Amino acid sequence: MKRVLVCGAGGFIGSHLVDRLVNEGCWVRGVDLKFPEFGGTSANDFVVGDLRDATFCREVIDQRFDEVYQLAADMGGAGFVFTGDNDADIMHNSATINLNMLEACRKRNIKKVFYSSSACVYPDYNQRDPLNPVTSEESAYPANPDSEYGWEKLFSERLYRAYHRHYGMDVRVARYHNIYGPKGTWVGGREKAPAALCRKVASAANGSVIEIWGDGEQTRSFLYVDDCIDATLLLTASNVTGPLNIGSEEMVTINQLASMIIEISRKDLDIRHIPGPQGVRGRNSHNRLMERELGWHPSVSLYEGLSRTYAWIADEVEKAKTLLALR
Ligand code: NAD
Repeated sequence: MKRVLVCGAGGFIGSHLVDRLVNEGCWVRGVDLKFPEFGGTSANDFVVGDLRDATFCREVIDQRFDEVYQLAADMGGAGFVFTGDNDADIMHNSATINLNMLEACRKRNIKKVFYSSSACVYPDYNQRDPLNPVTSEESAYPANPDSEYGWEKLFSERLYRAYHRHYGMDVRVARYHNIYGPKGTWVGGREKAPAALCRKVASAANGSVIEIWGDGEQTRSFLYVDDCIDATLLLTASNVTGPLNIGSEEMVTINQLASMIIEISRKDLDIRHIPGPQGVRGRNSHNRLMERELGWHPSVSLYEGLSRTYAWIADEVEKAKTLLALR
């Protein structure tokens, strides 16, 4: 039986990954600062602890693991990453986790390690035209990410690749582009655009207004979490060591994203634009390398993925209202 360690197993993508690996018959240990917030964990074993602690990192690898997935990071959406308020924590916490985990894997003779990098590594200067953003893998250099979160990801990508070159570690690096779906953070300040907009729409009374940061003409693409897990497992099973984009090419403006969610909700709502952090002006995944190397492309349309996500968040909003009413 394949034995797998998932770091960040209490988070959004990590908890979906654990579910899939267990379903496929793996024995899985999850590690995180916390248990998953929604629906518990299906991991065979779950260790709560801090991966900034090098001793703890070595302790969680106390047995043979065939694969380690390193998804733990101090992260969030635009309201967390692009305000500048959390830069020191983001860089220090995530870099420390990666330094510790990679060294613990080397000491414990772990061969295969997956690392979740981000589309935030791509340079700001290639993402100013909302209709023609450039995110092909090689365009990450000359580097100029627009956030410290992106710089940390770039540093850690290089760290994983250095361990590959110097210690023969079999690393896989994915650059995720805006992953969304049920069981993701939807409130509290770390939520990303699809979840935040689903929450705003679900909470709004029919005939009222929801607010969007900026003019809403900034572009993005969003990948449904099931597709993300498919691509992650495919990449890990492959021989591709270089960074690969894992994202969707279905690019929309944030106004279009909001309109889609409003349509799904069947409410009649207006949009008001207010100042707020936005990140780069345009971004889309560039999937040519992923298609060529692994023949993969996403299978869930944005409308379908948002319908599933909206249904889940609307339910969470109703549960939260009931809890408040009971207090
Ligand atoms: P998430 O915040 O839901 O999950 C990250 C998990 O890491 C959290 O559960 C958190 O508690 C855990 N963690 C943080 N610090 C820790 C520590 N010191 N010790 C142990 N655990 C710690 O985020 P996610 O959306 O599931 O993202 C997973 C990975 O994918 C992250 O590395 C993220 O940067 C990357 N990524 C995500 C997206 C996306 O759209 N969700 C896009 C690009 C990259």
